[in-house]
Amino acid sequence: MPRLCIFCGAHPGRNGVFLDAAARAARAIVAAGFGVVYGGGRVGLMGTIAEAAIEAGGEVIGVIPEALATEEVAHSGITRLHIVQSMHERKALMADLSDGFLALPGGFGTMEEFHEILTWRQLGIHDKPIGLLNVDNYYDNLLALYDRMESEGFIRSQTRRLFISSADIDELLVSMRSIIT
Ligand code: AMP
Repeated sequence: MPRLCIFCGAHPGRNGVFLDAAARAARAIVAAGFGVVYGGGRVGLMGTIAEAAIEAGGEVIGVIPEALATEEVAHSGITRLHIVQSMHERKALMADLSDGFLALPGGFGTMEEFHEILTWRQLGIHDKPIGLLNVDNYYDNLLALYDRMESEGFIRSQTRRLFISSADIDELLVSMRSIIT
C-alpha cells in the first residue's frame, strides 16, 4: 500500500474549517488507498488526521522523537509508533516510509518539513510527489511568494512546479497517485 506523509499543525487553528478539512482529508486519503505517515502526536490537526484515518480503517504510522513522546502527545491508537532519537532521524524515517508528501495548514514545523522535502526533491534526493492542501486560501501568500521567487530568478520555473497545490483533496490525491511509480 502506498503511504502519504502528512505535515500539518500541532495546533488546531482558530477557525474550525481547518479541523474539518483535516478530518475530510484523512478520510479521502484512506478511501484513495493510501496509508498515513505522520508526526505521531495527538494534538492539533495532527491528532485529527490520525483519529479520522484510524476511524476510516486506515493504516497510520507515527514517527516521534523520544523528547516529544510523552503520554500527552504520542497517539496510542495508531497502527505503529516509531520512537526515534532526534528530529533529523524522524524526518529521514518519515521520508523513507512514504511514497508522497502532503502539507496541510500549520506553522513553522509544517513549513520546515514541507520546505525540506521540496528542497530534497529539487536536489534530486527523491522523486516522490509533494502536495499542498490550500484550505481556505491559507497558503495564498506563500504561493505568491513562490511566484515572486520565480520572477526574481531565485527558483527556476521547473522547480516552482515540483509540488502541486489545490484546495481540493481529491484532485490532489489523483494527481499525486499518477506520479507515484
Ligand atoms: P507546527 O506546524 O509548527 O505546528 O508543527 C507541526 C509539525 O511539526 C508536524 O508535522 C510534526 O511533524 C511536528 N511536530 C510539532 N509539534 C509536535 C508534537 N507535539 N508532537 C509531534 N510532532 C510535532
